[in-house]
Amino acid sequence: MHKTEKIALEEHFGAIDPNIVEQSATHFIADAWPAHRAMLLDIHDSRLRLMDECGIEKAVLSLLSPGIQALHDQAQAVDDPAQAVDWSYRLNDHAAKQVSDRPDRFAAFAALPLQDPDAAAAELRRAVTELGLVGGLINGFSQVGDEDTVVYLDDSRYAAFWATVEDLGVPVYLHPRGPLPHTSPKYDGHPWLYGSAWAFSVETATHALRLTGSGLFDRHPGINVILGHLGELLPFNIWRTDHRLAVAPRGLGVQHTFGHYLRTNFYLTTSGNFRTPALLNTLVEVGADRLLFSADYPFEDMREAAEWFDRLELNEGDHTKIARTNAQRLLRL
Ligand code: ZN
Repeated sequence: MHKTEKIALEEHFGAIDPNIVEQSATHFIADAWPAHRAMLLDIHDSRLRLMDECGIEKAVLSLLSPGIQALHDQAQAVDDPAQAVDWSYRLNDHAAKQVSDRPDRFAAFAALPLQDPDAAAAELRRAVTELGLVGGLINGFSQVGDEDTVVYLDDSRYAAFWATVEDLGVPVYLHPRGPLPHTSPKYDGHPWLYGSAWAFSVETATHALRLTGSGLFDRHPGINVILGHLGELLPFNIWRTDHRLAVAPRGLGVQHTFGHYLRTNFYLTTSGNFRTPALLNTLVEVGADRLLFSADYPFEDMREAAEWFDRLELNEGDHTKIARTNAQRLLRL
């Protein structure tokens, strides 16, 4: 089969502290965890061989989820925002080192300590201008001050952070994390709803709508947010959202439709959603210029992602855009 050379943008690693990598154990049955733990800790060995096999010329690395955003979780025994700042700094140095070892094969998104908005803005600036990272990846809401206080990215405390994002001209990948059980009674008794099977998409789509409805993209029209998993259900439902808000805006005061912002301020990746009818719906809704190939390794099988993508019967121009040229333009690779 013909392999399309690809760039992948949602490819995760674990590093610097065992507490970080163990966050991902919950996504696997016990027998499968040791192998996946090893995949998260590896960058240059089995990961690179798989990339060769799959025709992935470059992977944009990012820390696993919830990563820094959960550092106030009591299970992490962390109670100081300074730790989120310190870990982000060390993680981004680590990521930059991996990239500098193979700049032809890797790039990276910065981990960001949103518990301290000014520090998050400063760290993004350092990561981009000094380390050469290509943007930030944020795992949903951050726990701030204590385990139970969650803050979303539309909060006014992040005004200067978003101004920095626009000023730097780099994208922010809004990656899923699970909701906190005691704030989400709708999931009670159904633990399978929490993870990537369902809650990840619902929670991330809601977060993306919060950002949009807050007027963020009216204030900063140059910002680009990346969503994984073919847009976390949004392309399927965005017409209905606009259709209903046109009748009952419920206090919403933004300049354009949500569909407009989805096509203008978001990029959507194929991570973890290797389903052709869903891709075609997404393609029709946002256009080929806004789609990007990704796998979501090692939570997904890199081979499955690549084989599905290579077989897609798209016109060659769109296939190439989604495979790599959109990413090259967006990330200035
Ligand atoms: Zn992911």
